Amino acid sequence: MSELVRRADEALHRDLCDHCLGRLFAQVGTGFTNEGRGRSLRTAVNLIRAIEGREPPYHNRCWLCDEVFENIGRYAQSVTGKLADLEFHSFLVGTRVDPAILEREERIWSELGDELAEPIKAELNREIGKVVERLIAKEVEFSTPDVVAIVDTRFSHVVLDISPLFIYGRYRKTSREIPQTRWPCKRCQGKGCQRCDFTGKMYPTSVQELIGDIVLEEVGGEDHFFHGMGREDIDALMLGNGRPFVLEVRSPMRRGIDLDDLALRINASARGRVEVLDLRPSSRGEVRKIKMAAPSKEYRVEVRLNGKVDKEKLNDVVRSLKNALITQQTPLRVAHRRADKARKRRIIDAHVESFDGERMSLVLRTESGTYVKEFVHGDQGRTRPNLSEALEIPCEVISLDVIAIADDDKEE
Ligand SMILES: [Zn+2]
Ligand SMILES: [Zn+2]
Repeated sequence: MSELVRRADEALHRDLCDHCLGRLFAQVGTGFTNEGRGRSLRTAVNLIRAIEGREPPYHNRCWLCDEVFENIGRYAQSVTGKLADLEFHSFLVGTRVDPAILEREERIWSELGDELAEPIKAELNREIGKVVERLIAKEVEFSTPDVVAIVDTRFSHVVLDISPLFIYGRYRKTSREIPQTRWPCKRCQGKGCQRCDFTGKMYPTSVQELIGDIVLEEVGGEDHFFHGMGREDIDALMLGNGRPFVLEVRSPMRRGIDLDDLALRINASARGRVEVLDLRPSSRGEVRKIKMAAPSKEYRVEVRLNGKVDKEKLNDVVRSLKNALITQQTPLRVAHRRADKARKRRIIDAHVESFDGERMSLVLRTESGTYVKEFVHGDQGRTRPNLSEALEIPCEVISLDVIAIADDDKEE
């Protein structure tokens, strides 16, 4: 008797269904399902036992799986029912199996060896997946499915794990009153209290909400997350080519949306505050890239000059600061939430755009992470060199706007 049939004979001292018998030898032969392999082995065992005058193996109810494979059709129906309202291209089936079944599987492996075996979950996933494929005419995808349907085989209950939707874009912000992301009230943590007028928020809206709430209306889903390539101060405008971001929507019900239409809708509803451009599909990988990016930025700073200075000196000083390497101790205004340390940053370019004796408009291009306000007023000497010190008069920032972000391949 061949070694394989001898081992199958041994396995059939327990009552096993064809699936569970065949799965013990899943690595043997190609072009078989476990069920087909199990059926052939059972026939071989029957013949051998008949020749040897022994009783055929008894089969009533599978000791290992409790005949779970009889329910494949029902599981597949539950999956398709659950998927009915969802828009998706690719799917995968997963299962949660009764722990008692997994224990029995471990036990039979320890008795008979597991080197040729396959876990029951793998077979259930595959067999349910095959039926669902036929029912909905879509193919299983292993690497990056839009949705994983997880069947709990004890209750035939299905939960969907829907992959997030990622949308890339750039935003311009033309209001000095909105933060980039949703900002929960510090006192109540979003529950609502007197301080926040029971809104749960420090600010009524944000760039994230102005964009994300519209996207959520379009695609359905649970919530949105905003990943910006850095951020500007609340009172700073974000102009020029805009700031790159990726919006992530968790558990979206739809994916195939027209992004040009979406941009029009966002821009109509956020008019005067936020504008989006260049929307396109994105990915989690791009989120990582965006969070890691450290592009240089160009700013326009309106500065009040609290003292006398002539145009010639002003131009000389500004020219001398071009290409300066400055050292910035953590600014006083953020010292309560950031570690106190010194950083070195480069002022890449600087020029005066306009000057009327008391005010000037200064255009600066700086390395990523430069504290621009502190470079202008000096932050009580914590930034050096700084504009105030170089001009020998106190300089005050009236407004600060980002006018360009030099990401991607754009020339430096
Ligand atoms: Zn079984
Ligand atoms: Zn509150």
